[in-house]
Amino acid sequence: MNIAHRYARIRREIPEDVQIVVAAKSRTSQEIKEVIDAGAIHIGENYVQEAERVHAELGTLARQVTWHMIGHLQKNKINKALPLFDMIQTIDSLALARAIDQRVERSQREVVPLLLEINIADEESKFGVRVGEHGTLHSTVEEIAKQTAALTHVRIEGLMTMGPLHGSPDTLKSHFRTVKHLFEALKSAHIDGVDMKYLSMGMSDSYLLAIEEGSNMVRVGTAIFGSRKE
Ligand SMILES: *Cc1c(COP(=O)(O)O)cnc(C)c1O
Repeated sequence: MNIAHRYARIRREIPEDVQIVVAAKSRTSQEIKEVIDAGAIHIGENYVQEAERVHAELGTLARQVTWHMIGHLQKNKINKALPLFDMIQTIDSLALARAIDQRVERSQREVVPLLLEINIADEESKFGVRVGEHGTLHSTVEEIAKQTAALTHVRIEGLMTMGPLHGSPDTLKSHFRTVKHLFEALKSAHIDGVDMKYLSMGMSDSYLLAIEEGSNMVRVGTAIFGSRKE
């Protein structure tokens, strides 16, 4: 099966209202072109430099899809990232949201949609809002959401999470469930300026489970492109 078939199969397999962000790190522009030709409209990249190269190589085709930053964003890369990405999914601090807000103000854009990245697995190697003490995650996330809502040039539109890398399906499931609860809690909080629309969770080996637990945005790479060479 080729890239187009695999994308189409996943598209048919999951509900229509679940968006597929094609995780394209380390893929060639030709591979990305194939998936766009197959109907993909959301592309995720992890590195600003790689996204820059891919945009240049795809030319006008790049403007027909939306781009999601799904890797950790360093503050010194924000200016370069802004013209490349439609949404930034990896906000893990108020400081980062503020830095983006200031730079958007100076750019041509009006408002950049953001997702707060939640790290419940609490693994050292990963980014995301994380809380050691049990029970305080909700207040931390709500506080970041509230403070970010006061900014003019960014808007929180949901949550993103990776999930434990080596967890059992049960661990994964309980992780997704916790993030879904957090998502619903923030939604019911009706914070002015926060629009809880997207719950970005689930990857190649977990998207079905994530959708069962309420995800409406999955980030899929290897199940579409095949395994990475690195
Ligand atoms: C690579 C990546 C994915 C997709 O992972 P696959 O296992 O290849 O589907 C999803 N989210 C993030 C943040 C990634 O870096």
